[in-house]
Amino acid sequence: MNIEISIEFFPPQTPEGVEKLRIVRSKLAVLKPEFFSVTFGAGGSTRERTFSVVKEIAAEGFNAAPHLSCVGSTRANIRDILNEYQAAGIRRIVALRGDLPSGTAEAGELRHANELVEFIRTETGDHFHLDVAAYPEWHPQARFPRDDLANFVRKAKAGADSAITQYFYNADAYFHFVDEIRAQGVDIPIVPGIMPIASFSKLARFSDACGAELPRWMRRKFEGLGDDTDAIRAFGLDVVTELCQRLLAGGAPGLHFYSMNQSALTLEICQRLKLS
Ligand SMILES: Cc1cc2nc3c(=O)[nH]c(=O)nc-3n(C[C@H](O)[C@H](O)[C@H](O)COP(=O)(O)OP(=O)(O)OC[C@H]3O[C@@H](n4cnc5c(N)ncnc54)[C@H](O)[C@@H]3O)c2cc1C
Repeated sequence: MNIEISIEFFPPQTPEGVEKLRIVRSKLAVLKPEFFSVTFGAGGSTRERTFSVVKEIAAEGFNAAPHLSCVGSTRANIRDILNEYQAAGIRRIVALRGDLPSGTAEAGELRHANELVEFIRTETGDHFHLDVAAYPEWHPQARFPRDDLANFVRKAKAGADSAITQYFYNADAYFHFVDEIRAQGVDIPIVPGIMPIASFSKLARFSDACGAELPRWMRRKFEGLGDDTDAIRAFGLDVVTELCQRLLAGGAPGLHFYSMNQSALTLEICQRLKLS
């Protein structure tokens, strides 16, 4: 089985966080990830920090994939960033719209990720492998699934090479999404985004905000575990490992882990899946 693993980080805010992330990366290296990606604050708020972590990752000999979001930015700004990444030898970008904090007035010159993908292709041709975001449970702002599907197809056809999904715990949503886009003639790999479960209360808050469903059976079970962190960890590992097994058995081409800058859960899940 040729399963590609990729792992996502956010750029730390402090020197201690940067140092801790170096240790996390050295532990995760045993998984031989296809790439490590680094998120980007909408409007460019983490531009320098993202670039600095990306450069470190590349210097360590890994493939580094910066995320790049267009909302709140100008074309000139994005062009500068693309030039920086090209000069640094980066070959992969996760291209996104991003979300501006509520109340921010300036949406920027590129309104949606399909426009960013088109812009990157116009500026840099085939230099970058472009990943885009996919939403098996639909993007929270989409009025109807059919609109979101059409928008995803437009984004893929604008020149994306592959997609990474928002996290989810319902494998059927992923399989349905893949069937839907294949029926529209889109054949790029759709890599499931996997969120290991460290704290159920945090996950519940975050999921409400980003539109990811926590199935009732899971939610009720976690709620019943109260503050028992060991039991929450053990159940979370079982749930996520079984999800990954189902996804891989059903043809998912790889797994993209939202590591939250931690290594233990991702490592444990991959060991259970015999991927390390
Ligand atoms: C793998 C992954 C990584 C992420 N990394 C980051 C990150 O680093 N930084 C960050 O800020 N956010 C990140 N996000 C969050 C993401 O930016 C938000 O979910 C955002 O709301 C949507 O981004 P998108 O690229 O999917 O946008 P789009 O593809 O533009 O879609 C956004 C919404 O607009 C609709 N839409 C799309 N195109 C059009 C169009 N042409 N006309 C009308 N409507 C349209 C879609 O249906 C959808 O409802 C990430 C998400 C994922 C899944």
